[in-house]
Amino acid sequence: MEHHRVVIIGSGPAGLTAAIYAARAELRPLVLEGREPGGQLTTTTDVENFPGFPDGIQGPELMDLMRRQAQRFGAETRFSEVTAVDFSVRPFRLELDGGRQVITADAVIIATGASARYLGLPNELRLRGRGVSACATCDGAFFRGQDVAVVGGGDTAMEEALFLTRFARTVYVIHRRDQLRASKILQQRAFQNPKIRFIWNTIVEDVLGEDRVEGVLVRNVQTGERTSLAVGGLFLAIGHKPNTEIFQGQLELDELGYIRTRPGSTHTSVPGVFACGDVQDRVYRQAVTAAGSGCMAALDCERWLAEGAALHPVPDAASSPSGA
Ligand code: NAP
Repeated sequence: MEHHRVVIIGSGPAGLTAAIYAARAELRPLVLEGREPGGQLTTTTDVENFPGFPDGIQGPELMDLMRRQAQRFGAETRFSEVTAVDFSVRPFRLELDGGRQVITADAVIIATGASARYLGLPNELRLRGRGVSACATCDGAFFRGQDVAVVGGGDTAMEEALFLTRFARTVYVIHRRDQLRASKILQQRAFQNPKIRFIWNTIVEDVLGEDRVEGVLVRNVQTGERTSLAVGGLFLAIGHKPNTEIFQGQLELDELGYIRTRPGSTHTSVPGVFACGDVQDRVYRQAVTAAGSGCMAALDCERWLAEGAALHPVPDAASSPSGA
């Protein structure tokens, strides 16, 4: 069976920073890139707040640079998805791509990030990819000259709305309150953009259209008034949920599904399993904080391995010992 000293699950800023540090510590980490290689930044255009790039950098380019940096020091990156884990045995077992392969690892760093949330409306699901999207940078260009709507009042909603103004005729921002959660600088840019129109105190109740989105049914939460708004695209920007489905029952998660880590560290409830980036961060969720915690995970992992697995309790006494 293929065995690795360190396997990193996920290839966003957290996973790739962990890979850079683990590779430089000569741990030859294997990075399993997952469903979205490069992570959420690959669906972004301009990244203006990552230190070191005063003129900004494109999200996909930044991730490509991080991947190349990790590879330069000996990290192996592979386009595979982990579909199941067993952290009750040593070495840990990871099932790849629906069982096509099983590999083992002495230590695992989880950096699986988070995915966009949807409203959960039946017609929203039916029309996903046919006008319903959670990624303006991926799909915005299909809406040239059309009217579109963005749902949400955070930074993502403002960024998506601003980006969509490059293509769309009018961008409606539908927000459930009368105040935005977004940072002041993004609020200002959105308020100043003549193509963006705000629809306050309003929620989307249904998505209209047979084969494609033709509009949304909205309700003002203060007056109760329902109206339909003709739009060709509906972009959801209502936050994210952590990608922790495969860790349920294996690791301690919080009530929102984020992996619990020991305060001030990246240690999870299982010794030898570390978590970094958005999968364990419900507060900051920035590329730079993800990268910082990726560095912490590699350092925690390196120290844990150096101390020797024997120092740590083995959950299942019948399991095979670490193959370090
Ligand atoms: P967020 O800050 O959690 O905002 C989500 C927005 O969606 C909120 O306005 C929320 O409304 C609304 N919402 C949530 N559930 C809803 C529902 N069921 N129906 C209708 N509206 C709903 O998420 P985010 O904008 O994705 O940002 C996440 C983090 O990434 C933040 O820390 C943000 O600062 C950061 N970020 C930064 C940048 C940047 O700096 N350039 C860009 C993108 C994201 P309420 O306000 O009423 O709760």
